[in-house]
Amino acid sequence: MTQYNNYINGEWIASPHASKNINPSDITDIVGEYAQADASQVNDAVAAAKAAQPLWGQSTPQQRFDILDFVGTEILTRKEELGRLLSREEGKTLSEGIGEVTRAGNIFKFFAGEALRVGGEHISSVRPGIEIDTMREPLGIVGLITPWNFPMAIPAWKIAPALAFGNAVLHKPAELAPACSWALAEIISRSGLPKGVFNLVMGKGSIVGNAIVNHRDVAGVSFTGSVEVGRTLAATLAKRLARVQLEMGGKNPLVVLDDTDLTVAVNAAVNGAFFSTGQRCTASSRLVVTDGIHDRFVQAMIERMSKLKVDDALAPGTDIGPVIDEAQLEKDLAYIDLAKKEGGKLVQGGERVKRGKNGWYLSPALFTETTNTMRFNCEEAFGPLAGIIRVKDYDEALAVTNDTELGLCAGVCTTSLKHAVHFKRNAQAGMVMVNLPTAGVDYHVPFGGRKGSSYGTREQGAYAKEFYTVVKTCYVFS
Ligand code: ADP
Repeated sequence: MTQYNNYINGEWIASPHASKNINPSDITDIVGEYAQADASQVNDAVAAAKAAQPLWGQSTPQQRFDILDFVGTEILTRKEELGRLLSREEGKTLSEGIGEVTRAGNIFKFFAGEALRVGGEHISSVRPGIEIDTMREPLGIVGLITPWNFPMAIPAWKIAPALAFGNAVLHKPAELAPACSWALAEIISRSGLPKGVFNLVMGKGSIVGNAIVNHRDVAGVSFTGSVEVGRTLAATLAKRLARVQLEMGGKNPLVVLDDTDLTVAVNAAVNGAFFSTGQRCTASSRLVVTDGIHDRFVQAMIERMSKLKVDDALAPGTDIGPVIDEAQLEKDLAYIDLAKKEGGKLVQGGERVKRGKNGWYLSPALFTETTNTMRFNCEEAFGPLAGIIRVKDYDEALAVTNDTELGLCAGVCTTSLKHAVHFKRNAQAGMVMVNLPTAGVDYHVPFGGRKGSSYGTREQGAYAKEFYTVVKTCYVFS
């Protein structure tokens, strides 16, 4: 079986342990064995980053552009192959896998351009003879800790801006899906980036992630993952006043109003709730539906969902791939039991299904007769599960939308301009979608949430520089 090592100081380094990366569509298929770093290897990577960062911080925008553009071009050229790898290790369908890889390539291209656009401001002083300039400098060494559900796009949207703005990187991917990060590291290793600027340290969150977060030379950590881990990380980083950026869970509402086009609403709900096996922090897990359309919407959802093909992520025609692993499948099934106990009515799916291959398959589950206070509608399951919350009108729908501790994305399906605009202004979420699924975002605009969903500055787009740079204000008297 192929062994994949960590990338530290420009070298491929083995670790004392390795872990098997298992294909969730077929658990007899092992993608590879991936090194599991220990704390001393994290220290080596930080030392390498510390030695390399000052020079990289002074590299020209052209050098940074060329390197990021090289990485983006290669990702896009190899999108079919890398998309297949992604689907094999993570379980989203091949078209979703290729789509994610394409997005990652485009992100590198976007940040290649951003490297050229780093600028400052000239501001007149209130005092005579003085000129003031602001400029942006790299933050320093950054730790980038990522989850398994977007194993290519999330590393890309953290690594690309980190490098574009002159930082050195320690990247720790999730244990369950390190193959895409390894492939990305391999491309970066041939990009001309000086050794030590980018380091891949794979392994456990409790060991590698913890060592990164606690290393005093790491100036900031950008993390995407669970709320629990994110909160702990923020507390640790705050103690030594390091910068932190967290993207965590969602319990995203999709409101369906009486006046909506039913086809638009069903497309948005099925895509938002169940595509990528519901394993997206932007998934529409709460479907908030007004009285007048409720029964027709439920019927149309059942019809549409009964046609969804749950199967091997790489098989042609698959709509919904497997759940990532056994623990997640059990968690999903426990939430299905919980919803039933809380009074929800399972109207479609929600069953473990067997396919030709031995994988973690679950048919997407739709519940009716749920309320917004049920635990099922408050906690993020991270699976293909959705609950319909029946409301009497738009006002109640908006109240339910905002009655949550999370606030990543909120959607509304309506043909009313008045309601669409009101919702856009009043939904307490970092992102709002009108007549679109809550999941599925562009790569060149800010991404992030409010309340318990996110902490710190926005990721992606031109806003990414707020995390990866520090502002210096310079006064000159002449
Ligand atoms: P998920 O359910 O998406 O895996 P987690 O929050 O458990 O969410 O993991 C997200 C990332 O955070 C993974 O790379 C994981 O290894 C890492 N991680 C988990 N625990 C810690 C920790 N205590 N310190 C740092 N990183 C951690």
